Amino acid sequence: MGAEGADYFMVYARTDPDAPPRDGLSCFLVERDESVEVKTVYGLMGARGSGTGRVLFRDTRVPAENLVGKENGASHIFYRMMIPERLTSAAGCIGAAREAIEIAARYTTRRKAFGMPIKSFQAVNFMIAESLIKLDAMASLVWMTAKAVDAGIPHGRMRRMVSESKKFATEAVWDICYNAMQAMGGIAYTNVYPIERMLRDARLLSIWTGTNQIMNLIIQHEFYKELEQEVRGKRNVELDAPEAFNEEEKIYE
Ligand SMILES: Cc1cc2nc3c(=O)[nH]c(=O)nc-3n(C[C@H](O)[C@H](O)[C@H](O)COP(=O)(O)OP(=O)(O)OC[C@H]3O[C@@H](n4cnc5c(N)ncnc54)[C@H](O)[C@@H]3O)c2cc1C
Repeated sequence: MGAEGADYFMVYARTDPDAPPRDGLSCFLVERDESVEVKTVYGLMGARGSGTGRVLFRDTRVPAENLVGKENGASHIFYRMMIPERLTSAAGCIGAAREAIEIAARYTTRRKAFGMPIKSFQAVNFMIAESLIKLDAMASLVWMTAKAVDAGIPHGRMRRMVSESKKFATEAVWDICYNAMQAMGGIAYTNVYPIERMLRDARLLSIWTGTNQIMNLIIQHEFYKELEQEVRGKRNVELDAPEAFNEEEKIYE
Protein backbone atom coordinates (compact mmCIF):
# COMPACT_ATOMS: atom_id res chain seq x y z
CA MET A 1 0.00 0.00 0.00
CA GLY A 2 2.75 2.50 -0.92
CA ALA A 3 4.34 4.80 1.63
CA GLU A 4 1.02 5.36 3.40
CA GLY A 5 0.45 1.86 4.69
CA ALA A 6 3.56 -0.21 3.94
CA ASP A 7 5.14 -2.29 6.70
CA TYR A 8 8.36 -2.76 4.73
CA PHE A 9 10.27 -0.52 2.35
CA MET A 10 12.76 -1.67 -0.24
CA VAL A 11 15.37 1.06 -0.11
CA TYR A 12 18.39 1.71 -2.32
CA ALA A 13 21.09 3.71 -0.54
CA ARG A 14 24.54 4.94 -1.46
CA THR A 15 26.93 2.97 0.74
CA ASP A 16 30.20 3.79 -1.01
CA PRO A 17 30.23 7.49 -1.92
CA ASP A 18 33.64 7.21 -3.61
CA ALA A 19 32.72 4.37 -5.98
CA PRO A 20 31.33 5.04 -9.49
CA PRO A 21 27.53 5.50 -9.23
CA ARG A 22 26.71 1.92 -10.26
CA ASP A 23 29.11 0.31 -7.81
CA GLY A 24 28.26 2.25 -4.65
CA LEU A 25 24.63 1.29 -4.04
CA SER A 26 23.20 -1.25 -1.60
CA CYS A 27 19.63 -2.46 -1.26
CA PHE A 28 17.91 -2.88 2.12
CA LEU A 29 14.62 -4.15 3.40
CA VAL A 30 13.63 -1.54 5.98
CA GLU A 31 10.91 -2.25 8.51
CA ARG A 32 8.58 0.55 9.47
CA ASP A 33 9.38 1.82 12.97
CA GLU A 34 9.41 5.21 14.71
CA SER A 35 12.54 6.29 12.78
CA VAL A 36 10.61 5.99 9.51
CA GLU A 37 8.31 8.92 8.83
CA VAL A 38 5.90 9.35 5.95
CA LYS A 39 6.13 13.09 5.54
CA THR A 40 3.57 13.67 2.82
CA VAL A 41 0.99 11.41 1.27
CA TYR A 42 0.47 13.05 -2.10
CA GLY A 43 -2.83 13.92 -3.71
CA LEU A 44 -2.64 12.18 -7.08
CA MET A 45 -4.20 12.73 -10.50
CA GLY A 46 -4.75 8.97 -10.82
CA ALA A 47 -3.69 5.67 -9.22
CA ARG A 48 -5.19 7.05 -6.04
CA GLY A 49 -5.15 3.75 -4.23
CA SER A 50 -1.36 3.68 -4.29
CA GLY A 51 -0.69 5.76 -1.13
CA THR A 52 2.33 7.42 -2.70
CA GLY A 53 4.32 9.57 -0.30
CA ARG A 54 7.67 11.01 0.69
CA VAL A 55 9.45 8.88 3.24
CA LEU A 56 12.04 10.19 5.70
CA PHE A 57 14.56 7.94 7.46
CA ARG A 58 16.01 9.45 10.65
CA ASP A 59 18.98 7.47 12.05
CA THR A 60 17.24 4.31 10.92
CA ARG A 61 19.19 1.20 11.90
CA VAL A 62 18.93 -1.76 9.60
CA PRO A 63 20.11 -5.21 10.73
CA ALA A 64 22.79 -6.77 8.50
CA GLU A 65 20.43 -9.61 7.61
CA ASN A 66 18.15 -7.08 5.90
CA LEU A 67 20.79 -6.33 3.28
CA VAL A 68 19.40 -7.62 -0.01
CA GLY A 69 22.13 -9.22 -2.11
CA LYS A 70 25.70 -7.97 -1.75
CA GLU A 71 26.91 -4.75 -0.16
CA ASN A 72 27.44 -2.20 -2.96
CA GLY A 73 25.90 -4.68 -5.39
CA ALA A 74 22.40 -3.21 -5.67
CA SER A 75 22.69 -2.03 -9.25
CA HIS A 76 22.47 -5.68 -10.37
CA ILE A 77 19.28 -6.09 -8.35
CA PHE A 78 17.86 -2.87 -9.74
CA TYR A 79 18.54 -3.72 -13.37
CA ARG A 80 17.14 -7.22 -12.89
CA MET A 81 14.03 -5.94 -11.10
CA MET A 82 13.29 -3.42 -13.80
CA ILE A 83 12.58 -6.28 -16.24
CA PRO A 84 9.39 -7.55 -14.51
CA GLU A 85 8.55 -4.08 -13.18
CA ARG A 86 8.51 -2.45 -16.62
CA LEU A 87 7.06 -5.46 -18.39
CA THR A 88 4.13 -5.65 -15.98
CA SER A 89 3.53 -1.91 -16.46
CA ALA A 90 3.32 -2.65 -20.18
CA ALA A 91 1.19 -5.77 -19.80
CA GLY A 92 -1.30 -4.00 -17.53
CA CYS A 93 -2.04 -1.57 -20.36
CA ILE A 94 -3.51 -4.36 -22.46
CA GLY A 95 -6.39 -5.04 -20.07
CA ALA A 96 -7.19 -1.36 -19.51
CA ALA A 97 -7.05 -0.63 -23.25
CA ARG A 98 -9.33 -3.53 -24.12
CA GLU A 99 -11.91 -2.41 -21.54
CA ALA A 100 -11.81 1.22 -22.71
CA ILE A 101 -12.39 0.15 -26.33
CA GLU A 102 -15.26 -2.14 -25.39
CA ILE A 103 -16.96 0.52 -23.26
CA ALA A 104 -16.66 3.03 -26.11
CA ALA A 105 -17.81 0.49 -28.73
CA ARG A 106 -20.88 -0.46 -26.66
CA TYR A 107 -21.76 3.17 -26.02
CA THR A 108 -21.36 4.23 -29.64
CA THR A 109 -23.59 1.33 -30.69
CA ARG A 110 -26.43 2.63 -28.48
CA ARG A 111 -25.98 6.41 -28.59
CA LYS A 112 -27.79 8.06 -31.49
CA ALA A 113 -27.32 11.34 -33.37
CA PHE A 114 -29.44 12.36 -36.35
CA GLY A 115 -31.42 9.15 -35.85
CA MET A 116 -28.40 6.89 -36.31
CA PRO A 117 -26.10 5.11 -33.88
CA ILE A 118 -22.94 7.22 -33.75
CA LYS A 119 -20.85 4.16 -34.59
CA SER A 120 -22.09 4.57 -38.17
CA PHE A 121 -20.14 7.84 -38.49
CA GLN A 122 -16.65 7.25 -39.83
CA ALA A 123 -15.28 9.95 -37.52
CA VAL A 124 -16.37 7.79 -34.59
CA ASN A 125 -15.77 4.25 -35.82
CA PHE A 126 -12.29 5.10 -37.13
CA MET A 127 -11.31 6.03 -33.57
CA ILE A 128 -12.32 2.51 -32.55
CA ALA A 129 -10.32 1.09 -35.46
CA GLU A 130 -7.19 3.11 -34.59
CA SER A 131 -7.49 1.98 -30.99
CA LEU A 132 -7.82 -1.68 -31.95
CA ILE A 133 -4.68 -1.49 -34.07
CA LYS A 134 -2.79 0.01 -31.14
CA LEU A 135 -4.18 -2.59 -28.76
CA ASP A 136 -3.17 -5.52 -30.95
CA ALA A 137 0.24 -3.99 -31.68
CA MET A 138 0.94 -3.46 -27.98
CA ALA A 139 -0.29 -6.94 -27.05
CA SER A 140 1.94 -8.48 -29.75
CA LEU A 141 5.00 -6.56 -28.62
CA VAL A 142 4.43 -7.37 -24.96
CA TRP A 143 3.82 -11.05 -25.73
CA MET A 144 6.92 -11.30 -27.93
CA THR A 145 9.01 -9.59 -25.25
CA ALA A 146 7.67 -11.83 -22.47
CA LYS A 147 8.50 -14.92 -24.56
CA ALA A 148 12.00 -13.56 -25.22
CA VAL A 149 12.56 -12.85 -21.51
CA ASP A 150 11.40 -16.37 -20.63
CA ALA A 151 13.78 -17.77 -23.25
CA GLY A 152 16.65 -15.94 -21.55
CA ILE A 153 17.87 -13.72 -24.40
CA PRO A 154 21.01 -11.60 -23.69
CA HIS A 155 20.40 -8.92 -21.05
CA GLY A 156 21.04 -5.95 -23.38
CA ARG A 157 18.47 -7.15 -25.91
CA MET A 158 16.09 -7.89 -23.04
CA ARG A 159 16.46 -4.34 -21.69
CA ARG A 160 15.78 -2.92 -25.15
CA MET A 161 12.68 -5.01 -25.78
CA VAL A 162 11.26 -4.39 -22.32
CA SER A 163 11.84 -0.64 -22.70
CA GLU A 164 10.17 -0.69 -26.13
CA SER A 165 7.18 -2.54 -24.69
CA LYS A 166 6.89 -0.18 -21.73
CA LYS A 167 7.10 2.95 -23.88
CA PHE A 168 4.84 1.72 -26.66
CA ALA A 169 2.15 0.17 -24.45
CA THR A 170 1.96 3.08 -21.99
CA GLU A 171 1.59 5.61 -24.80
CA ALA A 172 -0.88 3.41 -26.67
CA VAL A 173 -3.14 3.00 -23.63
CA TRP A 174 -3.17 6.78 -23.19
CA ASP A 175 -4.19 7.26 -26.84
CA ILE A 176 -6.82 4.53 -26.54
CA CYS A 177 -8.40 6.03 -23.40
CA TYR A 178 -8.29 9.45 -25.08
CA ASN A 179 -10.07 8.02 -28.15
CA ALA A 180 -12.65 6.25 -25.98
CA MET A 181 -13.45 9.54 -24.25
CA GLN A 182 -13.57 11.41 -27.55
CA ALA A 183 -15.85 8.81 -29.14
CA MET A 184 -18.25 8.94 -26.19
CA GLY A 185 -18.26 12.71 -25.77
CA GLY A 186 -19.12 14.55 -22.57
CA ILE A 187 -20.52 11.65 -20.59
CA ALA A 188 -17.12 9.95 -20.63
CA TYR A 189 -15.66 12.98 -18.84
CA THR A 190 -18.02 12.34 -15.94
CA ASN A 191 -17.79 9.53 -13.45
CA VAL A 192 -20.90 7.86 -14.87
CA TYR A 193 -18.40 5.84 -16.94
CA PRO A 194 -14.94 4.75 -15.77
CA ILE A 195 -13.11 6.21 -18.79
CA GLU A 196 -12.12 9.42 -16.95
CA ARG A 197 -10.48 7.32 -14.25
CA MET A 198 -8.75 5.07 -16.80
CA LEU A 199 -7.37 8.15 -18.52
CA ARG A 200 -6.03 9.56 -15.23
CA ASP A 201 -4.50 6.22 -14.26
CA ALA A 202 -2.96 5.76 -17.70
CA ARG A 203 -1.12 9.08 -17.50
CA LEU A 204 1.13 7.78 -14.74
CA LEU A 205 2.35 4.80 -16.71
CA SER A 206 4.63 6.73 -19.04
CA ILE A 207 6.24 8.42 -16.01
CA TRP A 208 6.82 5.74 -13.39
CA THR A 209 9.39 2.94 -13.29
CA GLY A 210 11.52 5.14 -15.53
CA THR A 211 10.02 7.80 -17.77
CA ASN A 212 9.51 7.06 -21.45
CA GLN A 213 12.37 9.41 -22.26
CA ILE A 214 14.60 7.07 -20.24
CA MET A 215 13.10 4.15 -22.19
CA ASN A 216 14.24 5.87 -25.40
CA LEU A 217 17.67 6.36 -23.88
CA ILE A 218 17.95 2.63 -23.12
CA ILE A 219 16.49 1.54 -26.49
CA GLN A 220 18.97 3.50 -28.60
CA HIS A 221 21.90 2.71 -26.27
CA GLU A 222 21.33 -1.04 -26.34
CA PHE A 223 20.74 -1.02 -30.10
CA TYR A 224 23.99 0.81 -30.85
CA LYS A 225 25.79 -1.69 -28.59
CA GLU A 226 24.17 -4.60 -30.47
CA LEU A 227 25.27 -3.07 -33.76
CA GLU A 228 28.88 -2.98 -32.59
CA GLN A 229 28.79 -6.72 -31.98
CA GLU A 230 28.51 -7.46 -35.67
CA VAL A 231 27.00 -10.83 -36.46
CA ARG A 232 29.54 -12.95 -38.36
CA GLY A 233 28.37 -14.28 -41.71
CA LYS A 234 25.45 -11.83 -41.92
CA ARG A 235 24.96 -10.49 -45.44
CA ASN A 236 25.71 -6.77 -45.68
CA VAL A 237 22.62 -5.35 -47.42
CA GLU A 238 24.36 -2.00 -47.77
CA LEU A 239 26.45 -3.56 -50.55
CA ASP A 240 23.34 -4.28 -52.65
CA ALA A 241 23.22 -0.65 -53.81
CA PRO A 242 24.45 -0.27 -57.41
CA GLU A 243 26.93 2.39 -56.29
CA ALA A 244 27.86 0.66 -53.06
CA PHE A 245 31.56 0.57 -53.87
CA ASN A 246 31.79 4.24 -54.71
CA GLU A 247 33.76 4.97 -51.54
CA GLU A 248 34.55 8.50 -52.69
CA GLU A 249 30.88 9.45 -52.15
CA LYS A 250 30.73 8.02 -48.62
CA ILE A 251 31.77 11.08 -46.73
CA TYR A 252 31.49 10.77 -42.96
CA GLU A 253 33.38 13.79 -41.71
C1 LIG B 1 2.16 7.76 -8.23
C2 LIG B 1 3.62 7.45 -8.27
C3 LIG B 1 4.06 6.27 -7.73
C4 LIG B 1 5.41 5.96 -7.74
N1 LIG B 1 5.85 4.80 -7.18
C5 LIG B 1 7.15 4.51 -7.10
C6 LIG B 1 7.63 3.34 -6.44
O1 LIG B 1 6.86 2.54 -5.96
N2 LIG B 1 8.96 3.14 -6.37
C7 LIG B 1 9.85 4.01 -6.90
O2 LIG B 1 11.06 3.79 -6.81
N3 LIG B 1 9.45 5.13 -7.54
C8 LIG B 1 8.12 5.41 -7.64
N4 LIG B 1 7.69 6.57 -8.27
C9 LIG B 1 8.70 7.48 -8.81
C10 LIG B 1 8.80 7.41 -10.31
O3 LIG B 1 9.44 6.21 -10.69
C11 LIG B 1 9.58 8.66 -10.79
O4 LIG B 1 8.72 9.77 -10.64
C12 LIG B 1 10.03 8.53 -12.24
O5 LIG B 1 11.02 7.54 -12.38
C13 LIG B 1 10.59 9.85 -12.79
O6 LIG B 1 11.55 10.38 -11.96
P1 LIG B 1 11.41 11.88 -11.44
O7 LIG B 1 10.01 12.09 -10.98
O8 LIG B 1 12.50 12.08 -10.46
O9 LIG B 1 11.59 12.77 -12.71
P2 LIG B 1 12.95 13.37 -13.26
O10 LIG B 1 14.00 12.31 -13.30
O11 LIG B 1 13.25 14.65 -12.54
O12 LIG B 1 12.51 13.70 -14.75
C14 LIG B 1 11.84 14.90 -15.13
C15 LIG B 1 11.87 15.00 -16.65
O13 LIG B 1 13.21 15.01 -17.13
C16 LIG B 1 13.42 13.95 -18.04
N5 LIG B 1 14.76 13.39 -17.85
C17 LIG B 1 15.41 13.14 -16.69
N6 LIG B 1 16.63 12.60 -16.92
C18 LIG B 1 16.74 12.50 -18.27
C19 LIG B 1 17.76 12.03 -19.14
N7 LIG B 1 18.90 11.54 -18.69
N8 LIG B 1 17.53 12.09 -20.48
C20 LIG B 1 16.36 12.56 -20.97
N9 LIG B 1 15.36 13.03 -20.18
C21 LIG B 1 15.56 13.00 -18.86
C22 LIG B 1 12.35 12.92 -17.69
O14 LIG B 1 12.05 12.08 -18.78
C23 LIG B 1 11.19 13.82 -17.33
O15 LIG B 1 10.56 14.25 -18.51
C24 LIG B 1 6.33 6.88 -8.29
C25 LIG B 1 5.88 8.08 -8.85
C26 LIG B 1 4.55 8.37 -8.84
C27 LIG B 1 4.08 9.69 -9.45
